[in-house]
Amino acid sequence: MTVATFPLAGRPATRKPGSRSLILAGFALYAALLGAAWWALPRFVPDQASLRLMGHVLKLHNIHDKILGNASLVLLILPCALWLECAVTGWEKSSLRALLAPSASIKTDMMYFVLDQAHVMGLAGRVMMLGASVISGLALKDWLAARTGIALDGGIMPLPLQVAVYFTLYSFFDYWAHRIGHTRLFWPLHRFHHAAQDFCVITGARIHPAGFVGIFVLTVPMTVLGATPEAVVWVNVAVAMLGYLIHSRIESGWGWIGRYVLQSPLHHRLHHKLDMTQATGFFGMMPVWDHLFGGWSEHNEANIAIGVDTPYRHGFWLVPDLLRDYRDFWLGLIGKRRYSPSEV
Ligand SMILES: [Zn+2]
Ligand SMILES: [Zn+2]
Repeated sequence: MTVATFPLAGRPATRKPGSRSLILAGFALYAALLGAAWWALPRFVPDQASLRLMGHVLKLHNIHDKILGNASLVLLILPCALWLECAVTGWEKSSLRALLAPSASIKTDMMYFVLDQAHVMGLAGRVMMLGASVISGLALKDWLAARTGIALDGGIMPLPLQVAVYFTLYSFFDYWAHRIGHTRLFWPLHRFHHAAQDFCVITGARIHPAGFVGIFVLTVPMTVLGATPEAVVWVNVAVAMLGYLIHSRIESGWGWIGRYVLQSPLHHRLHHKLDMTQATGFFGMMPVWDHLFGGWSEHNEANIAIGVDTPYRHGFWLVPDLLRDYRDFWLGLIGKRRYSPSEV
């Protein structure tokens, strides 16, 4: 059984005087180095290149965009989330410190994050989804436009309004995708995320690569609704940032913001509860959907155990767990899987 208690709640702060200044100075230094690298990239790294590999010539184009696109998550959004958390909680409680002496659960998070950034998980997802990952909303959008003459185009709105509108729409579809993830059929795939025993900022990235629900309930509708590429980038940044923060070690419900606007780390922790005797709640990245469609409650006890009662190996070697969960999904689909009483 996977059992964990919130190791941070109720403890007195152990932040040493001046540690916040050190954290701020460290982040300022990091930001300066990042700025220097940003400046140096177009000046010292060519945008096009040819590589000769085993007799073949490999041509690389738009190298700057590729580096900046891939690096923005790892070099900008994640460090900002880690820094923000550290500034609030102090070094002792921070995810940064936990990453330096990782628990078995956080080792899984770390390995998953590395494999995800190396596109291994994306590739595994394409195989596991048996081609479903290539489904795009573009064809549906064109079909609807041909039949109805209506093609939605978010570009008629100014970018900040587009980002606000599409983030709200994204969170609406994400709410339903998340609820579907908690149904008996799809739970084995979502369970991998809930198996985390400790929260750490990067736990947010730990999502089973067989993302069937996300393709149909999130990606396709968002494309049909005509978000411009610029809006998609900013919505993705906001989603990634919020995903990191709700898995942070910040012990806060964020007041009225956490109640109506954006999910807080406290409410997401309540969503990850181990105890399945009460219904799971707090599904939405925007809590307003929980208020409207179910999932909100006034429960706010932070000192709860998180995890699932399905055994997980935890640690760097995560392939058996991923494959077992994938097999359980298919066994459930063909009616060959037995459910334990505590399963959703
Ligand atoms: Zn969930
Ligand atoms: Zn989570």
